[in-house]
Amino acid sequence: MIDFHTHCYPDDLAVKALGAVHDVCAERSDGTYKGLKAALAEAGTDKAVVLPVCGRPDHEKTVNEFLRRLSENDGSLIPFVSVHPFSHNATALVREYAVQGAKGIKFHTPLQNFRLDDERALALYETAAKCGMIVVFHCGRPGIYPSSSDCYPSHFKPLLGVLDPEKTVLAHMGGYGINEEELEVLRTLPFYVDTSLSETQFTLGEFSLLLDSLDENKILFGSDSPWRMPNKAVEFLRSACRDKRKLKKILCENAERLLDIR
Ligand SMILES: [Zn+2]
Repeated sequence: MIDFHTHCYPDDLAVKALGAVHDVCAERSDGTYKGLKAALAEAGTDKAVVLPVCGRPDHEKTVNEFLRRLSENDGSLIPFVSVHPFSHNATALVREYAVQGAKGIKFHTPLQNFRLDDERALALYETAAKCGMIVVFHCGRPGIYPSSSDCYPSHFKPLLGVLDPEKTVLAHMGGYGINEEELEVLRTLPFYVDTSLSETQFTLGEFSLLLDSLDENKILFGSDSPWRMPNKAVEFLRSACRDKRKLKKILCENAERLLDIR
């Protein structure tokens, strides 16, 4: 089982990191490496993609180095990288990370405070695609409050020529706080989605119907630990998806193929 959407922070920054995202969910782990490992073990997870966010330009080294070091001693973690679109030499940095073996890059428009279609960001999507990197986008609200840079499936339509559909993931089922209209758009897009935050934005019935309406080869299980508990997320998915074969794809096979780790 692979959790495609997790985070973890250095022990001395975890409290601050958790406080930066306002959310209503009280039940969560502490944001540290230890906390993540315990939460993943409780859910029965074998591997986890860990997603960093470089919130300010030119802070990549600190943010990405922490996860790279962790993964050196823990083969169950698959660290992605984060590059701020406004950093100096941002495209060169993306290429450098790809050469170093990074499997993917995460973008977070509200926390990194840029527009999805900003020219500087487009250059990074193109570079990542050329390097064969997976590109994960945070979609929807950053927490309970919306922000002016939130993006939903319709925002990705103009980027169809730029993004590689086989390597692009829209997190949170296309957007935390997504509405019916945007879900309709999501169903027409060729991208992957991750299931993180579903248990707090859909009823079981809604989630089940949504899973049925999307390409089963492009759904990835994700928990968004530490903001949600992986065991609860997986329980919700298992209840919504009664088809064992499809569940195996969502929990494991789709991620294995995308990450090329079979
Ligand atoms: Zn997240």
